[in-house]
Amino acid sequence: MRVSNFFLNTGREAPSEAEVLSHILMVRAFMIRKLATGIFTYLPMGYRVIRKIEQIVRECMNEEGAIELLMPAVQPSEIWEESGRWNKFGKELLRFKDRHGRDYCMGPTHEEVITEIARSFIKSYKQMPVNLYHIQGKFRDEVRPRFGVMRAREFIMKDAYSFDVDEKAAAVSYEKMRRAYCKIFERCGLKYKMIDADSGPIGGDLSNEFMVLAQTGEDAVISCDSCNYAANLEKAAALPIEPEGVIPPSAKAAEVITPNMHTVKDVADFLKVPVQAVVKTLILKIEDNLVAVLVRGEHEVNLTKVKNFLRAPFAELAEAEDIKAVSGAVGFSGPIGLKIPIYVDYSVEKLPAMVVGGNKKDLHITGARLNIDFKADGTGDFRAAMPGDKCPKCGGRYTITRGIEVGHIFYLGTKYSKSMKAYFTDADGLKKPIDMGCYGIGVSRIAAAAIEQNHDDAGIIWPAPIAPFEAVVFALNANSQEISRAAEKIYSELIAKGVEAIIDDRDERAGVKLSDADLIGYPVRITVGEKSYKNGCAEIKLRRDSGILTVKLAEVAGKVKELLG
Ligand code: ATP
Ligand code: MG
Repeated sequence: MRVSNFFLNTGREAPSEAEVLSHILMVRAFMIRKLATGIFTYLPMGYRVIRKIEQIVRECMNEEGAIELLMPAVQPSEIWEESGRWNKFGKELLRFKDRHGRDYCMGPTHEEVITEIARSFIKSYKQMPVNLYHIQGKFRDEVRPRFGVMRAREFIMKDAYSFDVDEKAAAVSYEKMRRAYCKIFERCGLKYKMIDADSGPIGGDLSNEFMVLAQTGEDAVISCDSCNYAANLEKAAALPIEPEGVIPPSAKAAEVITPNMHTVKDVADFLKVPVQAVVKTLILKIEDNLVAVLVRGEHEVNLTKVKNFLRAPFAELAEAEDIKAVSGAVGFSGPIGLKIPIYVDYSVEKLPAMVVGGNKKDLHITGARLNIDFKADGTGDFRAAMPGDKCPKCGGRYTITRGIEVGHIFYLGTKYSKSMKAYFTDADGLKKPIDMGCYGIGVSRIAAAAIEQNHDDAGIIWPAPIAPFEAVVFALNANSQEISRAAEKIYSELIAKGVEAIIDDRDERAGVKLSDADLIGYPVRITVGEKSYKNGCAEIKLRRDSGILTVKLAEVAGKVKELLG
């Protein structure tokens, strides 16, 4: 490819809304162009990266026996009504009507479509296992689209769905996908971690996420410092912690006025008790009901855990109005006298006595005891894990890092096959629901995540397997025909050797070409300058290293091939 024939328009300007470097660099390197919030065009340079990632994904999926098809982006409401998600999915599902007034949505995921296919054609145990996948544009009307293609509204996903006769067979399919995913991220040249994950609104028991570790990641990843346990913060088990300083259990519950105390620390200091003994009562809205959840002062509630404990689709903090209606005052809720279900975190259970809100402005109750002054409707792990917490597997300590979720695999069981009636006849002649799994990869998100992990002040440093071109060649002095010819010759030799090369043959200053090469991030740069040419050589530089190799003109292509491995 020649830059003069390509469509490239690099820039210096960062988009004003850009919060992360990958977004800025993808725009500046002319890889993406925003059309509307969260909706992008992949420009030629960016689309080459997408195609490379897609190809790696495809090869690894095919190796594990998965079969490619292509499902539509627009889906009718009927199948979503059948699965029960038409009303449950929330506003991320973009719903609209056609000219006949029928309801449709833009597919955010394809469980319904694939289950409709499975129930129509998989009738016998002999037709399984089967795993079907596609690489296709998804649409989710995200609350907060940001970070360019990392959290877009329209994005490219690979999603696969496995169909098996029972749970045991489904576990084999799941394992194959786990293996395929590890290979995909390794082949893309990413540093990643596979972690335990919450299975979210899709449901199911077994779920793993694949995280690209990066400071700017939206997810918090908990890892044990001594074993291989790693989990999303949403999921990581938080064991009960013995309190260090406690209020003596003999103390009786008593009202205390705490004027203008707004934080747990204010209250703890004022009452001269440890922060651990000041218990927070959070009022949550679960579907149409309110519940209270109690966590210790140093802990934060984990809404996902509460939601899962109560087997609810969503859990959110209640609005001020609702809080006031049930507890009398906002910011001073406490369990005593509360007329809604009360759920108590394990670490709260360890407190012999505690300070709780008094359900009235500036009022707290000290010396309150569980089972005496108030009762729990359930106890459980309702708090977010923290660095330093004990690992449930080995007793080691938790550390916390940040990650970008690039892949997610779920075991679904019979959730969709039952609701959408996808039954088959087993070897024993009985009708059974098909056992399913689903497996997603954010193809377009991988491109952004790779940049978050691989860049410097000058631009992108692509891992070679997903770089738009493996090598760029140019003459530093474009006025010298001889030198230009030498660059052209190297370019032809690279192409002949199967290197994906591009020649920057534009009528531009060397400085422009050098900075574009760094910005776009080609893994190998070959330049022919006056000085090196005089010695019959060209210069090879790897984007990742600062060193420069001076190599005989005739040997350049071979050397580049060798460097790319
Ligand atoms: P997130 O928690 O980041 O919203 P998710 O759990 O909703 O992700 P899945 O439904 O598991 O995502 O989708 C599979 C994959 O699709 C994710 O692992 C991620 O890589 C990608 N993905 C999801 N939402 C987006 C988005 N808005 N923009 C780009 N990629 C996305
Ligand atoms: Mg999401």
